[in-house]
Amino acid sequence: MSLIILGVVITIIIAAIKGSRAVGGAIIGVFLGGIVGFLLRPSANLVGQLPFGVVVTRGATLTDLDVLFRGTAELSFNYMMVGAIIGAVIFIALAKSLDNKHAATAASPSPSSVPPTSSANKFCTKCGTTLGPEIVFCGGCGTRRN
Ligand SMILES: [Zn+2]
Repeated sequence: MSLIILGVVITIIIAAIKGSRAVGGAIIGVFLGGIVGFLLRPSANLVGQLPFGVVVTRGATLTDLDVLFRGTAELSFNYMMVGAIIGAVIFIALAKSLDNKHAATAASPSPSSVPPTSSANKFCTKCGTTLGPEIVFCGGCGTRRN
């Protein structure tokens, strides 16, 4: 069952990355940040860090004396949420900076792709007569275009 969920999650992540780096970054950030937050969760007295099932339900499933750990469970849950939010922010920023770099690379043409331009010498340098793009010698004074 958990393998199916994992497969669905991975599919969503791949689709999100293909669609938008920012969305993909947010999803990855939420997952990684949530994991980090979970690993850094506070310890409860005597039993140490609470298991994932208790944390993710914020201690709702605890019974009898275990209810005493509910406060720690809620705090651990908050750690996970804060981690997820921080992770999302970091990865969205990373994704956006990647997008910007990509856009900048795509926007600036490479020097070899620039066609040899004749527009720089549209007018004869000697007499100022307008020269067509294929004209080699000025029609006004016969000077060779440079
Ligand atoms: Zn001329």
